[in-house]
This record gives sequence, C-alpha cells and structure tokens, in this order.
Amino acid sequence: MIDPKFEKITAPSLTAAQATKLRNGIARWGYDWSHSSFSWLKEHLKTELRRLQRDRCCYCRRPLRFDKGPVEIEHVINKAASGAYVRFTFVLRNLALACKDCNNGKGQKVVLRAPLPPRSAYPTSAAPFLWVHPHFHDYSAHILIHDAWVYEANGGSREGTAVIDKCKLTLLSGIERANRRMLVESCDGFAAALPRAVEMAGDVGLDALCVELSPLLSKMMGSCGSPSKAEAAIRAAHAALQAIAGAAKGP
Ligand SMILES: [Zn+2]
Repeated sequence: MIDPKFEKITAPSLTAAQATKLRNGIARWGYDWSHSSFSWLKEHLKTELRRLQRDRCCYCRRPLRFDKGPVEIEHVINKAASGAYVRFTFVLRNLALACKDCNNGKGQKVVLRAPLPPRSAYPTSAAPFLWVHPHFHDYSAHILIHDAWVYEANGGSREGTAVIDKCKLTLLSGIERANRRMLVESCDGFAAALPRAVEMAGDVGLDALCVELSPLLSKMMGSCGSPSKAEAAIRAAHAALQAIAGAAKGP
C-alpha cells in the first residue's frame, strides 16, 4: 500500500498583511483569478500548499514536480460554474495543488451534492461534497492506493469513486509503469540504473518492483546477467539503503 503522505490539508493561512492585500485586490479587480495583481498570492499558495501537501498532488498523491507547467492551483468548487460560485475564487479552503493530469481530468465537474444557496459562505465540512475534498475528507477513508499506483474506492466510497473516475486514476498504474521503465532505460548502464530502480521501491513495493524491472535490468547487466541476478541486486541495494536510513534515524 502506498502512503498517501497526507490525509487532508490543514490550516493554509495568510498573514494579516497578506489578507489585507488580498481584500484590497478583490475590491479593486474583482474575482479575476488571472489578473496579474494576484500573482503574489499564487506564488505564496504554491509554496505553502506544497509544504502542507507534502509535495503530493491532492487527488492522485503522486509527487508534484517543479517544472513550470505541471503543478496547478485547483479550485475544488469550480470558479467558472456559470458564475454561481465566483465568490469562492480566493477562499483558501477552496484551493489545493493538483498535477496537470488530475486538474485537466476533473475539469469543471460539479462536486456539490446540491447547489448552495445564493450568497452562502463556503462550506466548513465534508458533508455538502460528493467528492474527496482535499481540506475536509480523510483521503484514505475514501481512496486506497495499492502498490504500483492501483487505486480503489475504500468500501466503495462514492466520494472516492467520483475522484477515481473523473481524474482517471485507473490509468495511472500503466502510465507510472511506463515512466519507471523509461527512467531505468535512460540510465547509462546497470550501475547507474540499479539505484534509480531501487529508489522507486517506496511507491511500487519491493516485490512488485522486482517482478517488473528485473528482466529489464538483467539485459543491462550484459552477457552475465539474468533476471534472478538482477532481482538479487535490487534486493541487496534496497536492504543497504534501508540500513543507511535506519542508521541515520539513530537508536
Ligand atoms: Zn494528480
């Protein structure tokens, strides 16, 4: 089972000066998310949420990358929904970091069980949502991530099923498998490929990793290689890494 890294986002915040700056910005420019006068807020949130989300996408929980494009600020309640909820555009609890794949997959999905009354405040609990809200739901109560990125709605959770379907999380096991192969294949020889493969064990599970990558690594070992030798090398390198991590933690 893959650790989701965090269950829900807790206490994103602005300083008093930032809150004032945001209020003034909204008073002057309205809820125009794309207006350049809110760039400072987006930069602040990307740093703050990345920390609170332990560098993981709020929906698929894969690592967020540092490239310019792939990390996006997701509006849980869609700010564009016919303008009905534009007032939630800058509500911190409506914002989370998602990878591009999840953000695109979710699109403008309606996540509320029923429309909120006009002018109502942002919800303060999970109850109104038919969706795993990154600030309100405990992720693993609704979505389990099995080794090698296989997703399951926990107990058939409707909220978890909605996220898995809409963000197309069932495609990720194949995508991640292809990524792992590419990362290993792109290494310059077996000595470089082995540590690269072993560092993936945390996300795949050691046994699954051995099954998946031993044949590929054995080819990189040259004429003396075999899948069983490659597997032994993976397990030995993994054990060494665990020993180092254990020693670093101390008694
Ligand atoms: Zn994602």
